[in-house]
Amino acid sequence: MDAIDILRKLKNKGVRFTPQRQAILEFLLSTKSHPTAEEIYQHVRAKFPGVSLGTIYNTLNMLKEHGHILELSYGDMSSRFDGNPDNHYHLVCSKCGKVVDFHRPLLDVNHEAEEMSGFRVLGHRMEFYGVCPECRKDEMN
Ligand SMILES: [Zn+2]
Ligand SMILES: [Zn+2]
Repeated sequence: MDAIDILRKLKNKGVRFTPQRQAILEFLLSTKSHPTAEEIYQHVRAKFPGVSLGTIYNTLNMLKEHGHILELSYGDMSSRFDGNPDNHYHLVCSKCGKVVDFHRPLLDVNHEAEEMSGFRVLGHRMEFYGVCPECRKDEMN
């Protein structure tokens, strides 16, 4: 879905959209970097100097609640945000913190998890930790 489709859908649900909110959405759809709220703030502020961090958080929460983005939380580190709301896996660099997509068919494990736990399983998340190619180059120097 592109920004126009998402804006139209949300408008039909009565969600008010300002140019700032639109800039947040467009940035998330245009990047594969999984930015933090702070990084989104820095990016949007270049175009809209009056934007507040509160607006960034409100907009991210709203987009998440409506299922248009994913929040990847990492314990006490800042969450990262993903403009692709479909479940997919990630690789995380332990050195620089970079998060990269790993696209493969989803593992068919939800049913097994339900059987073993008695949970009603809604989904699963998988991440691989390691050292990214750039950091590996640094290690070799
Ligand atoms: Zn790295
Ligand atoms: Zn992703």
